[in-house]
Amino acid sequence: MRLESTRHQSPPVSFRDALLRGLAPDGGLYLPAAWPAVTLDDLRAWRTLPFPDLASQLARRLLDGEFADAVIDGLVREALDFPVPAIEVEPGRFVLELFHGPTLAFKDFGARFLARFFSHVLAGQGGHATILVATSGDTGSAVAQGFHLVPRVRVVVLYPRGKVSPFQEAQMATLGGNVTAVRVGGTFDDCQRLVKAAFLDGTLAALGLSSANSINIGRLLPQAFYYVAGYLAVARQVGDELVFSVPTGNLGNLTAGVIARRIGLPVSRLVAATNSNRVLPDYLESGVYRARPSIATLSNAMDVGDPSNFARLLELHGGSADEVRRVLYCTATSEDETRATIRRVYERTGYVLDPHSAVGWTAADRFAASPGGSSRPIITLATAHPAKFDAAIRQALGFAPPLPDAYADWRARPLAAIDLDQADYPQFRRLLVSDC
Ligand SMILES: *Cc1c(COP(=O)(O)O)cnc(C)c1O
Repeated sequence: MRLESTRHQSPPVSFRDALLRGLAPDGGLYLPAAWPAVTLDDLRAWRTLPFPDLASQLARRLLDGEFADAVIDGLVREALDFPVPAIEVEPGRFVLELFHGPTLAFKDFGARFLARFFSHVLAGQGGHATILVATSGDTGSAVAQGFHLVPRVRVVVLYPRGKVSPFQEAQMATLGGNVTAVRVGGTFDDCQRLVKAAFLDGTLAALGLSSANSINIGRLLPQAFYYVAGYLAVARQVGDELVFSVPTGNLGNLTAGVIARRIGLPVSRLVAATNSNRVLPDYLESGVYRARPSIATLSNAMDVGDPSNFARLLELHGGSADEVRRVLYCTATSEDETRATIRRVYERTGYVLDPHSAVGWTAADRFAASPGGSSRPIITLATAHPAKFDAAIRQALGFAPPLPDAYADWRARPLAAIDLDQADYPQFRRLLVSDC
C-alpha cells in the first residue's frame, strides 16, 4: 500500500511508515494513492458476515498486501470485538449504534485498530513508543483504553483538571499498566502546549514519542468499515442507494464515509451534520475556508473550529468545492434544535439520542424535507451512548439514561492520576523521563 501526502511535497510511504509518523514531513495528511474497488458481488458475498469478519475483508482490500491475511484477521478481530447494531427508530430512519466499544463512543473503532497495528509494526522493528495525547475527554479515553495492555507502547494522557466528566476521567485514570494519566491544573490548550513542547524537545528522542490523534491514517481507515456494515444491515437489496447522516467535528468520521463511497459503497449523499461550529457549512456556502475559535455546545466532541481532516476531504474531491457540494448535504444545528430533537424522538419512539447523534438526526430530518432530499433510507450514525452525556439528556428529558451494566462499578475504581499543578514544561519533562 502506498500513501501520499495531501501537500504532495514529501515522498510516498508504506502504511507502516504512515502509521508511525502520523503527519507527513511536509505537514500534509496521508491518503492512499490508489483505492481498491469493492463490487456489488463482494457486498453480496459479505452480507451475512459478522462485523469482525467483514472488517477483516475490508482491511485486506485496503491494506493491499502489506500484511499477511492471517495477521490482519488476528489484529482486526482483537480490535473490533463489539457489535454494531442498526436500529430502525422510525420507518426508513435508522441509527447505527457505534457506541458499544469500551468507551461508549465511536472513537473506539479507530483507536483500537490503530493500537494493534501500531504495536505489530513496532514489534517487526524491535521498537518501542510513547504515545502522548492531550484530551478534552473523548479522544484521550478512547486512546488510553485502545492501547491499554498493548505491548511495546506506553500512553501518557494529559487532561485539564475538573474539565472532563467524572466518567471520562475514570476511563483514563483508573487503568494503570502502560497508561499514565496526568491531570493538569489548566485548560485543554495548556495540555496541548505541553505535548507540543515535548514533541519539539530533541533530548527526548529515546522515548520514541508519537501521537495518536485523528490525523493518523490508522485511525481513519477502520471507520470506513462500519459504513459498509450499516449499509448491508439496512439495504433491501445490495445496489440500492442509501444516505448516511454523520455528526461532524474534526471531519474524520465524515471522511471515512467519503472513503466508503469511493471504494464502491452505494451511498447517494452524505449528510454532514455540524453543531454551531459552522466552518464546513460556511465553506460550502462561500467557497472560502475560514478557521475560527471553537464554540462550546452540548455536543462538545464536535466543538472544532479548524477541523484537521479538511485537507483530506478536499483532496478526495479533487480540490473542488463544487464536487464536495455534489456529495455532501451540509447543515448546522443549534442548541435548542438539539434539545428539541432529543425530546421529539424520545416522545415519538422511546429512543434516546445523545446530543451528537441528535445533531445528526436533525440534519437528516432537514435533508429528507429539502428539495434535493429523497425517500431513500437514512442511517444516522449514533456516535456516543446517551449515558455518557447525561447532563445534556437531563436538560432535554428530565432524567438521565443509565450506563450499561458493565459500567455499574466505575465510581468505585480508584483514580491514579499524577497531578501537575501548573502547565509547567520542565516539571512535565521530569515526569516523562522518570515514568517512562
Ligand atoms: C469525536 C466525536 C465526534 C466527531 O467526530 P469527527 O470524526 O471528529 O468529526 C462526534 N461524536 C462523538 C461522540 C465524538 O466523540
